[in-house]
Amino acid sequence: MEVRLTDLTKIFPSRDKKDKSEVVAVDNFNITIPDGKLVGLLGPSGCGKSTALNLICGLETPTKGQIFFGDTEVTNLPPEQRGVGMVFQNYALFPHMTVEKNIMFPLENFKGDKKLTKEEMKAKALEAASLVQIENLMSRKPKEMSGGQQQRVAIARALVKRPKILLLDEPLSNLDARLRLQTREEIRRIQRETGITTIFVTHDQEEAMSISDLIVVMKSGVIHQVGKPQEVYDSPVNLFVAKFLGTPAINVFKGRIDKGGLYIGNEKVLDIPDTAVMNGENVQTDGRDVYVGIRPEGFILDEAGPLTCKLDRVEVMGRDISVVSFHDAATDAGTVCVRSIISAENDIDENEDTVKFSLKPAKTHIFDAETEHVLRFI
Ligand code: ADP
Ligand code: MG
Repeated sequence: MEVRLTDLTKIFPSRDKKDKSEVVAVDNFNITIPDGKLVGLLGPSGCGKSTALNLICGLETPTKGQIFFGDTEVTNLPPEQRGVGMVFQNYALFPHMTVEKNIMFPLENFKGDKKLTKEEMKAKALEAASLVQIENLMSRKPKEMSGGQQQRVAIARALVKRPKILLLDEPLSNLDARLRLQTREEIRRIQRETGITTIFVTHDQEEAMSISDLIVVMKSGVIHQVGKPQEVYDSPVNLFVAKFLGTPAINVFKGRIDKGGLYIGNEKVLDIPDTAVMNGENVQTDGRDVYVGIRPEGFILDEAGPLTCKLDRVEVMGRDISVVSFHDAATDAGTVCVRSIISAENDIDENEDTVKFSLKPAKTHIFDAETEHVLRFI
């Protein structure tokens, strides 16, 4: 089922007694989530992810805007009539009920013709439990299970009514690293098997990148970019998106464009055309202060290269080498640290004071220093 949000906005009154200004938790969302896809809603804590999800499932009413599931508007429908399954971070299982009862719970309140017999409910619960591979744990209570198993129960409970849309709010954050990895693969598998349109909320960029068909990157209630994970990584629209995606993070330098050259400090690192497209408009590049974002894999070790950094240390990571160096124009949280990842086939002398790089243009992103929008060259 396609999900379409138009001008969707949620404004909360302030919770802070001193600061009375209201909070725009979701600011004019206009987005279509295609049928059958897994979409990752990604952004830092407090950016409005949970609010967006709660609006979609009907736990919150929007201040403005509309929500459509397929051609049907659901903006004012109560949650139970929307056909969505929701999974929360803290599982929210009933502690006194068995796994089977927990999973069956959403089926209990079907009325009239839809009312199910005990046997039908049990069959449906078993089917949902098999999907998340916990069918052998049906008689346990939540406290007798691991966090990962409890989260599977929560997912089974969300799936038991065969929802048209599955919403997952940071479902992996209470799990340890290994289980997190395993459970996210599991969610991907279940989504593929069922074909249910799924919205997966997380603040973890790696998690979102690894399982999503599409990611929606947001900050302070505003959608900044929507695209396939690789597309967004390869062509971020602004400095925020560039910094939010990728580990190690993109290296950001203060730079300047001068007469067709991109300068970091007084070194000319790339040739730059005279005009660029910024936010849909043609602009002149000459004389512009910029931020230069270079992905860790965008550096080429090159004795004749134009960018000179002070070598700190070399970390060998098997296939790759991580070269940690410093540059006065680097802006990484004030540490001036540069992290570059190069193939382990490179030979690098750790006793040298400096290391020189040339840059891969496709891995180098240039942002206007004032607007922080990307400059694109045709
Ligand atoms: P996220 O899930 O991305 O961490 P939330 O959607 O929970 O973010 O919150 C977005 C913003 O809205 C935050 O500033 C939060 O404090 C505020 N907020 C959320 N719920 C309420 C509420 N019920 N009343 C007032 N402010 C709220
Ligand atoms: Mg949240």
